[in-house]
Parts: sequence; structure tokens; C-alpha cells
Amino acid sequence: MNLSLPSSLSVKDGHLFCGGADCVELAEKFGTPLYVTDELHIVENFRRYEAALKQYTDKVQLLYAAKANENPVIMQTLAAEGAGADVFSLGEMQAALDSGMPAEKLLFNGSSKTEAALRAAIEKGIKISVDSVDELRQIDLISREMQKTVKIGFRCNPEIDVPTHPKIATGIKNSKFGIPAEMILDAYREALSMEFVEPVGMHCHIGSQILEVEPFGIACGVIMKVAAEITKLGVKLEFVDFGGGLGIPYHRGEEKDAAPTPEEYAAAVMPVFVAACEENGISPAFWVEPGRWMVGESTVLLTKVNSVKKVHKTFVNVDAGFNLLIRPAMYDSWHEVMVANKADDEDTGVYTVTGPICETGDILAADRKLPTVAAGDLIAVLDAGAYGYAMSSQYNSHPRCAEVLVRDGQAELMRRAETYADIVRTVVIPSWHRK
Ligand SMILES: *Cc1c(COP(=O)(O)O)cnc(C)c1O
Repeated sequence: MNLSLPSSLSVKDGHLFCGGADCVELAEKFGTPLYVTDELHIVENFRRYEAALKQYTDKVQLLYAAKANENPVIMQTLAAEGAGADVFSLGEMQAALDSGMPAEKLLFNGSSKTEAALRAAIEKGIKISVDSVDELRQIDLISREMQKTVKIGFRCNPEIDVPTHPKIATGIKNSKFGIPAEMILDAYREALSMEFVEPVGMHCHIGSQILEVEPFGIACGVIMKVAAEITKLGVKLEFVDFGGGLGIPYHRGEEKDAAPTPEEYAAAVMPVFVAACEENGISPAFWVEPGRWMVGESTVLLTKVNSVKKVHKTFVNVDAGFNLLIRPAMYDSWHEVMVANKADDEDTGVYTVTGPICETGDILAADRKLPTVAAGDLIAVLDAGAYGYAMSSQYNSHPRCAEVLVRDGQAELMRRAETYADIVRTVVIPSWHRK
């Protein structure tokens, strides 16, 4: 099958290359399974996204959605480009700060935050996206006790339908996230009355892997209406954060996904934003939180074929399963697969690529046309940079694999593979089991 490859990948002499490095050589050198990431692809993505938005206004800040891929090295790459981060936990907060992102470029999100995490955010001067009035009142208590001002925004649920998988549609009416627009004015009123709470922002995020730009424009319109109303209440808006969600073209074959570009995203959203700002005499910064779009296409998961089994279907049994890439099992996601050591060969059969996990659902790719596959071949799973390693587990006592970073053909580990010792590192033996 002729796939239209992302610019992180190329084919030379029958081998697949990522970031200019030969995937077959990388697999031999570092072992499999192996995540391989093209660093410059991420850098280019960041610059392109930012430039697209800056066509319309200078006051733009990109907050990388850390959960997509929180390898500290990748966070550093993005920090060096000027990225902030959307962080969802104490751990992501720490990762973002350690990577060199300044506290003022971070937004602490989530619908279920612990007191310890709220305390840490206030202590470090990180802005909080508040998800409920209950949470607001907890923040009020903590900030008064600490005598420290905290800047907040509320996460507004714009209640719009979004064309994506229901598990990743976050701005629909029955979502657990955010406060509905009709209830949010009261929340801002209450925040304005608090001594150490400064409501200066608004936040929304309508979902993930969205392949149309219209919903973003609609959400922007809804949010900017609320922005106008809270301005009248006395809120001085410093930022409006429109979340992430721009999708990538996972289907790269004959039925290719038509994925919008950041330029198309900007054209759908920025005029709405700029016009609303002018109309209401406000000048908040435009914040946006791309995760998948920044890192998704930068990475392949390389996995070796253990055996091929011809029964009612032909199964290609590989050494990576949903322990390392859960998206197909969890969201029915599509990832293209290639035989990395036979990248120029013609397709000869239909194969189903399955992992080593003891579950029927451990399928990475079903019914794909591939060249003749044999034990020892190397399968590349494409577009594995977002929600790949980040969602991995040690299920079935499989140690997590290594991650390699490639820059202009130079390849080095950015995370070593785990061993069995890593799996049992946190195990404690109760006294009656000790002899
Ligand atoms: C997951 C998430 C993002 C990133 O979504 P992508 O689809 O990866 O761009 C951004 N903001 C929030 C609040 C999120 O939950």
C-alpha cells in the first residue's frame, strides 16, 4: 500500500527511516519494542502552529498538552521553543517546571484536583483552570491560609457536539469537564468576591482528534460571548485558552484522512477571537493547548515479528501490544503499519498485527495489506507519538520499552527500557511473608 508518510518518515533502499535514521539499524542497536521520535519534526510543528496564530495577533501562547507525551526530553525541546504547558497533575506540573517552562506559562487543569496539587500550584504561582464552584471554594481557603494570590480561570463547557470518538469529546453537554456557560457568571461573581483569588482567564477544550475546524470556530464564538459578559462583571481577562484537539491524519492509505492544518485552524478561530476582542474593548492573550498535533506524527513504534500464524486470518504476532500502545484497543483507533525492513516490497496478503498480551482485544492493526511477513521482520506502527508511551503500562509483567530520540540522523536513548527489576521496584513484602 502506498501511504502518504508524515515528513518525519522516509523510505530508502527498502528501509523505513525516522528523522533520517534507519529504523532497521535502530531496532538492531537498541532492541525492540522501541519508540523512535524525530525531534526536529516536533520543533517544526511548534513553529508552524505558532506562526499560523501570530498572523492574527501577537498575543499568542502555546501550552503544550503534557499528557500527550510527557517524556522530559520532549518537554525540554518544547520549552526551548517557548512553549508553556497544560498540566493535569502534580507530576506534570513538576515535569513542566523541570523542563524549564516558567510557572506563568502553565495552566493547571482537571476536574478532580487534590488539595496537595492545588497547594503546590498556588505556591509556585501557576494559574489554575477551576472546574467547579466546590473547587473554587477550596482554592479560596488555601490561598487565604497561604496569604498568596492565585490567578484562575474557569473551564467553561460550551456544550457543542464534536465529531470525534465519544471517549475524547470533552465539550459535549454530558461531559464531566467544565461548568456550563449558563452557570458560569455566578462562578465568576463568587470568585471576584474572594480576597486572594483573581479571576483573569477562561478555559475550554472541546475534545481531541477533531478533523474539522468549524467546531473550534463555534466554540470560540460561545466562549467570547461569555468573555464579554464576565468583562461587564468586572473581570479583567488576561487570557482565553481554547484548549487543544486538532487532529492528525492517522489514515494514510487510499482513504486518507483530510486533516486540517494549523493555518486552517487559525483561519476558523482567530477572526472570531479578534473581532470579539475589538467589539468588547478587551485584549486577552490567545492561549491554545495542542498535544496530539505537536507530537503525534513525530514517532513510530518499532516492533519485531515473533511468529506468523495462518488460521481463519493471518496473524502477525509482534512484541508490542496494548501495553505500549493502547489507542487501538481503547478507542478503536487506526494506526498505519509498515514492514520497516521491506518498505519497498509490494503487498501480497492481508495481515492482522497482534501483540503479546493475554487479551483478544490486543490488536494493533486489523486486516491490513502488507508485503509477505515472516518471523524476524520489523513492523513500524506509525503516528505513535501522542498518547502512546504516555498511556503505556506494565500489564502482563511486560517492562516498558525504550525511547530513542533522533535529530538529523543522530540517534540516542531518551529513556532506557525497563527491566523486571523496575516492575517489582515498588513491591513491599508483608511481615508474614518474610522468613
Ligand atoms: C487532552 C487535552 C488537550 C490536548 O488535546 P489534543 O487533542 O492532544 O490536542 C488540551 N487541553 C486539555 C484540557 C486536554 O484535556
